[in-house]
Order: sequence, then structure tokens, then C-alpha cells
Amino acid sequence: ATNQEKHTIVLLGGGSVGKSCLTIQYLQGRFVQDYDPTVEESYTKITVIDNKPATLQLFDTAGQTEFRTVENLHVQKGDAFLLVFSLTSRTSFAAIRKIHDRIKKIKETSVPILVVGNKSDLTSERLISREDAEEAAKKMGIPYLETSAKTGENVTESFERLVRLLRGGSSKRRDN
Ligand code: GDP
Ligand code: MG
Repeated sequence: ATNQEKHTIVLLGGGSVGKSCLTIQYLQGRFVQDYDPTVEESYTKITVIDNKPATLQLFDTAGQTEFRTVENLHVQKGDAFLLVFSLTSRTSFAAIRKIHDRIKKIKETSVPILVVGNKSDLTSERLISREDAEEAAKKMGIPYLETSAKTGENVTESFERLVRLLRGGSSKRRDN
């Protein structure tokens, strides 16, 4: 289609939180245990969301907690952002607020952002409660979901949520 929508979604977050695993799980429906942590890759996914075709460009960044120039470039390119932390890492949780501030500074208009707490399958290693994460997300004014790149929980839902926000400013599903 000539009028097909195209969105650039950028994944940001600390190291080892699962950005690459979430990307691969969404693209290929499988869990890759040992993904090269230095890989910084862009992928295109052509899909259908709520009966409407969409072309998504996904940027899997390799950023560590500290923001670098390259991340600023990614922020400039992004239409929407998936901010990923690991439910097993307090450092990665603390980094989310800084990344959010950075996006706000770089983007002139407000853009869809979703926070995801990943590795929800590691229940015995969890350090961040759902309540604490929800409260932090609420303060930033953005929605929160818990994901597992391993089991696939909420992975597709996260990307689709962002597309719905891009389309209509509403994360609600249309009732058909
Ligand atoms: P990135 O640096 O943010 O891209 O993190 P990766 O996607 O490379 O994942 C870092 C490590 O966490 C790898 O050893 C993955 O196998 C593991 N990992 C990622 N997501 C999950 C998850 O949802 N559950 C579990 N149990 N491990 C995960
Ligand atoms: Mg990675």
C-alpha cells in the first residue's frame, strides 16, 4: 500500500535488561539466551495491528546506563520509545527516569513512551515490586507493563501498545 504507516520504535535501557531478547522475541517468536551485547541493530517488521497494516522499524540500542551521543541520535529518530529495565536490577530501574528526562529534553513534542519491567519470569530474583514500578511510571505519566522475553509474556502487547498510542493517543483496544 502506498499510504502504509511507518513508525520508528527505539528500545532504550541499561545493559543486560533484555532489549535484544525482547526485540528477537517480538520479531521471531523465540528466546535467544546469549545475544551479543554489543550489537546495535535496526530491524523492519511488517505486520498487522488491529486489522491495519503497519511497518515498524525497531532500533535495538546497545547503550549502557550512561547516555552517549549515539543514544541522542536514536532519540531524535524515534517516533516512540520502549524504556526497558530488568525487574532483577535496581540500577536499571533507576536509569529509567534519567532516560525519560533525556527524551523529554530532546523531543520537542510529546511522544509515546512505554516502560517495561522485563524478566518477569525470574520471580525469585525480583527486586522491583509491581507497585514501585507502577508508581514510578505514573509519576512520569507513562504506562507500565511487565514482560518476559523468555516466556513471551506481554512482548507483542508492548510493541502493539506503542503503535496504538502512535495511532490515536489511546492505548485502548477498539471494540469490534
Ligand atoms: P540487552 O543488553 O538489554 O540487549 O540484554 P539482552 O537481551 O542481551 O539480555 C541480557 C541477558 O538477560 C541475557 O543473558 C538474556 O538471556 C537474559 N534475559 C533477557 N530477557 C530475559 C527474560 O525475560 N527472562 C530471563 N530469564 N532472562 C532474560
Ligand atoms: Mg542488546
